[in-house]
Amino acid sequence: MIQLPLSKLSNVGTTIFSQMTQLANENEAINLSQGFPDFMPDLELLNNVDHFVKKGFNQYAPLGGMIGLKEEIARKIENSHQSSYHPDSEITVTAGGTQAIFTAIAAFIKKDDEVVIFEPAYDCYEPTVELFGGIVKRFEMKAPDYQIDWTVVKSLISDKTKMIILNNPNNPSGKILTEEDINELIQLVKGTSILILSDEVYENIVFDGKEHLSICKYPELKERSLLVASFGKLFHVTGWKVGYCAAPKALTDEFRKVHQFNVFCVNTPIQLALAEYMKNDEHYLHLNQFFQEKRDFLRKGLSGTSFELLDCEGTYFQAVKYSKISDKNDFDFASELTINHKVASVPFSSFYKNKINENVIRLCFAKKQETLEKALENLSKI
Ligand code: GLN
Repeated sequence: MIQLPLSKLSNVGTTIFSQMTQLANENEAINLSQGFPDFMPDLELLNNVDHFVKKGFNQYAPLGGMIGLKEEIARKIENSHQSSYHPDSEITVTAGGTQAIFTAIAAFIKKDDEVVIFEPAYDCYEPTVELFGGIVKRFEMKAPDYQIDWTVVKSLISDKTKMIILNNPNNPSGKILTEEDINELIQLVKGTSILILSDEVYENIVFDGKEHLSICKYPELKERSLLVASFGKLFHVTGWKVGYCAAPKALTDEFRKVHQFNVFCVNTPIQLALAEYMKNDEHYLHLNQFFQEKRDFLRKGLSGTSFELLDCEGTYFQAVKYSKISDKNDFDFASELTINHKVASVPFSSFYKNKINENVIRLCFAKKQETLEKALENLSKI
């Protein structure tokens, strides 16, 4: 056997999402762990794919994406945030949000560059920064309100800081950034060349009439930002792996230098299908309401149990505290919940480098009514 080289990611195993889904499947549990809908996307969108595949659009797309889709993305951003990006030179279609994040980090982070992240954090940020020799500086947001103390964030900034990664709305906490947060951020980066990678894949899932404050609304931030979004979340097609990155031309140019060797381009017929579907704004304007009903149903059902509900301002995840039920750590609790009570969740500690355990788990409510009912039936018995 050959001597294998040292692992580049020695602390990394299989993602918690794959682990919990596997555990759910092995135990025939209701899967509220990995974030994906268990209902069908709109038939009109599926028919569009069928149409373009059969019409013969089955070869490579241009590396930045099909122009029709990029134009629709630019139109959506303009309508939603009154911010314009040039469709051809400032928008790149990617193989999902995760690839956009990977590519953005790969394009800009070199050895010893520092990157500030906010935990609980989506699991791909830190390993990707590490792969390119970067150093992560983390601010830990804590239960129950996951507030950001900007004085502490400021202390993490140095002349080595190359990038700040935001996730707004935040997966897994469901928190959204406020005007005050944005103002603090503007002050923080003013006069620096710090870049911002803004993961906004849940931008259209914000509740109670609150406004999603996209990074692109603020010229001082937009000029230094790579904005990432996802069609998987927007149209219930997480398995299609299509998203995009919007960024000023100079940043997009660098982004595409990596993108072309990373995936080259994203599959053609699905881009065409999405472009056609996006012509009708009605297809996404009511997403907030759609998911708010699911969130409220889950929250109402849980309110009669010993689980404590944390706030959920956005995303399709509800965070719950279980300390009245068990003092086990969240990983053991989530495993037992899957095995014994047949409901799979994601332990919050997996979103912290230091595995901070605050007895909180994440439940995904992007599910059919009957799935949520069954899960609530099981959870009510605990
Ligand atoms: N974004 C989804 C989640 O948070 C899953 C992504 C994945 O499985 N890699 O659950």
